[in-house]
Amino acid sequence: YEENSINQLTEEMDIFNQLTFGIQNQEFEVYLQPKINFETIQVEGFEGLSRWNSSKLGFVSPINYIPIAEQSGRIKDIDLLNLTTILQWLQDRLDAGKKIVPVSLNISPDHFYEPQFLDTIIRIFNQFHVPTKYIKLEVTESIELVDFAKAKAILEKLNDFGIESSIDDFGVGFSSLSYLPKLPFSEIKIDRSFVNSMDEPGMYAIVQTIIQLAHNIDMRPIAEGVETKEQLAMLQKLGCPAGQGYYFYKPMTIIDAEKLLDQSTS
Ligand code: C2E
Ligand code: MG
Ligand code: MG
Repeated sequence: YEENSINQLTEEMDIFNQLTFGIQNQEFEVYLQPKINFETIQVEGFEGLSRWNSSKLGFVSPINYIPIAEQSGRIKDIDLLNLTTILQWLQDRLDAGKKIVPVSLNISPDHFYEPQFLDTIIRIFNQFHVPTKYIKLEVTESIELVDFAKAKAILEKLNDFGIESSIDDFGVGFSSLSYLPKLPFSEIKIDRSFVNSMDEPGMYAIVQTIIQLAHNIDMRPIAEGVETKEQLAMLQKLGCPAGQGYYFYKPMTIIDAEKLLDQSTS
C-alpha cells in the first residue's frame, strides 16, 4: 500500500511539474467523439475531449491530469485552448462551404465559477464568425453544490448569448434533484456507469427513470458509454434520442472527424 501511494505521489508530481511546459509547448490536442442520433444513426454532434502526449511523460490520461490541472489552476488554459481550436476548425469548414455540427466542450467547475468566465468565452467567440449554437458546454453534476444561484445566473447568460449547456455524468454526483428543473440545461448526460450495467434490472430502472425525468422537464437525455448493440436497443426502446460510446466510435483526431463529416449524407 505504502509503495503504491508513493508511486502515485511521484506520478502526480511529474504531471504537476510538466503541465505548464506541456501547455506552452502545445502538447495538448482535442479529440472528438461523435454523438449519434438514435433514430437516424447519423452523427449529430461531437464531444471534444482533451488529450496530452507529453514529451517527457508520454501519453497521460485525462483522468490523471484533469484533476491536477484543476488543483493547479491550469484547467482554464486547457478548456480555452480547446474552445479556440474547435472554433477555428468549425470556421475553416464553414469558410470552405462544408457541413458542421455542434461540438460540446467540458468546462471544469472551478473554471465555470471564475468571475471572468463569461467574458472570456464571449471574447473568444467574438474572434470568430461561428454561430453560437455550434458550441455547447458540459458541466459535471456536482456544480450546483457550490452555488446554485450563481450557476443559474451563469447558465442563463450563456443561453442569452446562444450557448446551450449540458449536465454531465448525471446520477453520480451529489446534487439535490429539486435543483435540476430550475437550472436551464438543455441536455442531461446519463453517466456511463449506468448505461454499462443496463442488463441489471436495477440499473435498467435507473436509466429508464433518468430518461423520463429528462423528458418531463424538457431536457434531452444523452446516453454516455454505449458499448453494445443490446444497450443501444434498450435505450431506443426507452425513448433516449441520442448517445455516444465505443459501440459507434471512440474519440478520434480532428482529421478523422473531418473525414467522417465529409462522408455523412444527412
Ligand atoms: P466525460 O466528459 O464524461 O467524457 C466521457 C469519457 O468517457 C471520455 O473519457 C470518453 O473517452 C469516455 N468514453 C466514451 N465512450 C466510452 C465507452 O463506450 N466506454 C468507455 N469505457 N468509455 C467511454 P476521457 O476522454 O478519458 O475523459 C475523462 C473525463 O475527463 C471526461 O469525462 C471529462 O470529465 C474530463 N475531461 C476530458 N477532456 C476535458 C477538457 O477538455 N476539459 C475538462 N474540464 N475536462 C475534460
Ligand atoms: Mg463530458
Ligand atoms: Mg460524462
